[in-house]
Amino acid sequence: MDGCIFCKIISGEIKTDFIFEDKKFVVFKDINPQAKVHLLLVPKEHIGSINDIGAKDEKFLAGVFAVIKQVAEKLGFDKTGYRTVINTGKDAGQEVLHIHFHILSGRKFSWPPG
Ligand code: AMP
Repeated sequence: MDGCIFCKIISGEIKTDFIFEDKKFVVFKDINPQAKVHLLLVPKEHIGSINDIGAKDEKFLAGVFAVIKQVAEKLGFDKTGYRTVINTGKDAGQEVLHIHFHILSGRKFSWPPG
Protein backbone atom coordinates (compact mmCIF):
# COMPACT_ATOMS: atom_id res chain seq x y z
CA MET A 1 0.00 0.00 0.00
CA ASP A 2 1.31 3.46 -0.97
CA GLY A 3 3.00 5.33 1.84
CA CYS A 4 2.96 2.41 4.28
CA ILE A 5 6.33 2.16 6.00
CA PHE A 6 5.97 -1.56 6.70
CA CYS A 7 5.05 -2.28 3.06
CA LYS A 8 8.27 -0.44 2.12
CA ILE A 9 10.26 -2.61 4.55
CA ILE A 10 8.68 -5.77 3.14
CA SER A 11 9.31 -4.75 -0.49
CA GLY A 12 12.95 -3.88 0.31
CA GLU A 13 12.52 -0.18 -0.47
CA ILE A 14 13.59 0.46 3.13
CA LYS A 15 16.53 -1.84 3.86
CA THR A 16 15.93 -3.85 7.03
CA ASP A 17 17.50 -7.04 8.36
CA PHE A 18 14.92 -9.75 8.84
CA ILE A 19 15.29 -12.07 11.82
CA PHE A 20 12.69 -14.31 10.22
CA GLU A 21 11.01 -14.42 6.83
CA ASP A 22 8.66 -16.83 5.13
CA LYS A 23 5.98 -16.53 2.43
CA LYS A 24 3.57 -14.67 4.71
CA PHE A 25 5.50 -12.91 7.46
CA VAL A 26 8.64 -10.99 8.35
CA VAL A 27 10.14 -10.30 11.77
CA PHE A 28 12.58 -7.45 12.36
CA LYS A 29 13.91 -5.31 15.22
CA ASP A 30 11.87 -2.32 16.33
CA ILE A 31 13.73 0.90 15.54
CA ASN A 32 12.83 2.32 18.99
CA PRO A 33 13.21 -0.67 21.31
CA GLN A 34 11.29 -0.69 24.60
CA ALA A 35 13.16 -3.73 25.96
CA LYS A 36 16.44 -5.57 25.35
CA VAL A 37 14.52 -7.61 22.77
CA HIS A 38 11.84 -5.75 20.83
CA LEU A 39 10.77 -7.34 17.58
CA LEU A 40 7.91 -6.70 15.21
CA LEU A 41 6.12 -9.53 13.44
CA VAL A 42 4.48 -8.12 10.32
CA PRO A 43 2.38 -9.94 7.70
CA LYS A 44 3.41 -9.30 4.10
CA GLU A 45 -0.21 -8.65 3.22
CA HIS A 46 -1.32 -5.11 4.08
CA ILE A 47 -3.95 -5.54 6.80
CA GLY A 48 -4.70 -2.35 8.74
CA SER A 49 -5.48 -3.68 12.19
CA ILE A 50 -7.40 -6.30 14.18
CA ASN A 51 -10.51 -4.45 13.01
CA ASP A 52 -9.82 -5.78 9.51
CA ILE A 53 -9.47 -9.44 10.54
CA GLY A 54 -12.37 -11.65 9.54
CA ALA A 55 -13.64 -15.18 10.07
CA LYS A 56 -11.61 -16.35 7.05
CA ASP A 57 -8.37 -15.39 8.80
CA GLU A 58 -8.15 -18.39 11.13
CA LYS A 59 -5.11 -19.71 9.26
CA PHE A 60 -3.46 -16.31 9.30
CA LEU A 61 -3.84 -16.07 13.08
CA ALA A 62 -2.53 -19.59 13.60
CA GLY A 63 0.46 -18.59 11.46
CA VAL A 64 1.12 -15.54 13.63
CA PHE A 65 1.35 -17.61 16.80
CA ALA A 66 3.44 -20.29 15.12
CA VAL A 67 5.99 -17.68 14.02
CA ILE A 68 6.08 -16.01 17.46
CA LYS A 69 6.73 -19.39 19.07
CA GLN A 70 9.39 -20.28 16.51
CA VAL A 71 11.25 -16.97 16.95
CA ALA A 72 11.02 -17.19 20.77
CA GLU A 73 12.54 -20.67 20.67
CA LYS A 74 15.22 -19.67 18.17
CA LEU A 75 16.33 -16.69 20.28
CA GLY A 76 15.87 -18.58 23.57
CA PHE A 77 13.43 -16.26 25.33
CA ASP A 78 10.67 -18.87 25.28
CA LYS A 79 12.14 -20.00 28.60
CA THR A 80 12.52 -16.62 30.33
CA GLY A 81 9.25 -15.15 29.08
CA TYR A 82 8.09 -12.48 26.71
CA ARG A 83 5.21 -10.13 26.08
CA THR A 84 3.27 -9.76 22.84
CA VAL A 85 1.40 -6.52 22.19
CA ILE A 86 -1.01 -5.46 19.48
CA ASN A 87 -1.95 -1.80 19.47
CA THR A 88 -5.22 -1.10 17.70
CA GLY A 89 -6.38 2.41 16.92
CA LYS A 90 -5.78 5.86 18.33
CA ASP A 91 -6.33 5.27 22.04
CA ALA A 92 -3.94 2.31 22.03
CA GLY A 93 -1.29 4.40 20.26
CA GLN A 94 -1.18 2.50 16.97
CA GLU A 95 1.25 4.54 14.86
CA VAL A 96 1.69 2.28 11.85
CA LEU A 97 -1.58 1.30 10.19
CA HIS A 98 -0.33 -2.10 9.02
CA ILE A 99 -1.08 -4.77 11.59
CA HIS A 100 1.97 -5.84 13.60
CA PHE A 101 2.70 -7.85 16.69
CA HIS A 102 5.26 -6.47 19.15
CA ILE A 103 7.38 -9.19 20.78
CA LEU A 104 9.25 -7.93 23.83
CA SER A 105 11.66 -9.73 26.10
CA GLY A 106 14.84 -9.34 28.13
CA ARG A 107 13.34 -7.62 31.16
CA LYS A 108 10.43 -7.90 33.60
CA PHE A 109 7.22 -6.26 32.48
CA SER A 110 4.73 -4.62 34.78
CA TRP A 111 0.98 -5.05 34.82
CA PRO A 112 -1.27 -3.24 34.10
CA PRO A 113 0.47 -1.78 31.06
CA GLY A 114 0.63 2.01 30.78
P1 AMP B 1 2.59 0.90 17.00
O1 AMP B 1 2.66 2.08 17.92
O2 AMP B 1 1.99 -0.30 17.67
O3 AMP B 1 1.93 1.23 15.68
O4 AMP B 1 4.08 0.49 16.72
C1 AMP B 1 4.81 0.88 15.59
C2 AMP B 1 6.23 0.51 15.88
O5 AMP B 1 6.95 0.55 14.67
C3 AMP B 1 6.92 1.45 16.87
O6 AMP B 1 7.36 0.70 18.00
C4 AMP B 1 8.09 2.01 16.05
O7 AMP B 1 9.26 2.19 16.81
C5 AMP B 1 8.26 0.95 14.97
N1 AMP B 1 8.86 1.42 13.72
C6 AMP B 1 8.50 2.49 12.98
N2 AMP B 1 9.27 2.59 11.89
C7 AMP B 1 10.13 1.55 11.94
C8 AMP B 1 11.19 1.10 11.09
N3 AMP B 1 11.54 1.74 9.97
N4 AMP B 1 11.88 0.00 11.46
C9 AMP B 1 11.57 -0.66 12.59
N5 AMP B 1 10.57 -0.29 13.42
C10 AMP B 1 9.88 0.81 13.11
